[in-house]
Amino acid sequence: MMHGMSVMPVIFFGHGNPMNALSQNSYSEGWRRIGKTIPRPRAVLAISAHWYVRGTAVTAMEKPRTIHDFGGFPRALFEVQYPAPGDPGLAVQIRDLLKPLSVDLDQSWGLDHGAWSVLIHTFPDADVPIIELSIDKTKPPAFHYEIAKRLAPLRDEQILVIGSGNLVHNLHAYAWGRHTVEPFDWALRFEEQVRGLLLSGDDAPLINYEMLGPDAALSIPTPDHYLPLLYVMALRREGEPLSFPVVGIDGGSISMLTVKIG
Ligand code: ZN
Repeated sequence: MMHGMSVMPVIFFGHGNPMNALSQNSYSEGWRRIGKTIPRPRAVLAISAHWYVRGTAVTAMEKPRTIHDFGGFPRALFEVQYPAPGDPGLAVQIRDLLKPLSVDLDQSWGLDHGAWSVLIHTFPDADVPIIELSIDKTKPPAFHYEIAKRLAPLRDEQILVIGSGNLVHNLHAYAWGRHTVEPFDWALRFEEQVRGLLLSGDDAPLINYEMLGPDAALSIPTPDHYLPLLYVMALRREGEPLSFPVVGIDGGSISMLTVKIG
């Protein structure tokens, strides 16, 4: 049945400022371009920095709500709705793939802005089913990399797995509302180091990022926005190409790098 069908790519999106949902800029245009160039997925599985909780769960409702999980933004952003359907059958399949890990079939979450602020550009018609997998905040990085490997068969079933975070994400240093600022040197250095490791397929230092020194500590003050990258890396197959279709450092301290595998 799968003859002639392509393996779905896997993509890490740097989502950054929630206002990107409403903006036409180089990031949102890049996300839109990706939607037009990849094969149309049957569904999307999103691992978002903003569903960072105790335990592993997968959204299993028919109609996930649009969650406005932020404060202090213009009303227009709170009025955004992204009515993509869910896919309860896929949620059950993912729960089974992740065994023996215990995975809750969630009926209360939905789509947080880590997912919809990007996907509103990538799939503007909101007609591709989306489900989310939570990030268990109690587990170490290697756990996330290991369980992600169990999701590998999804790529052959036209499921697009995405991670949404930012591999450099320091809000303390971020230039909120100010004009373009030069990237911090530590942000540039760390992003460059990550790019090199990704291109060479050297996953171990990226999993053990806490050993990468002060640039990593400044770039990853908390793990939530970095961990989605490990899910994407874990699904790379032998010899697969890896590219960076969207680039930029926003506000000095947020890497908007998109990592595309396949
Ligand atoms: Zn975020």
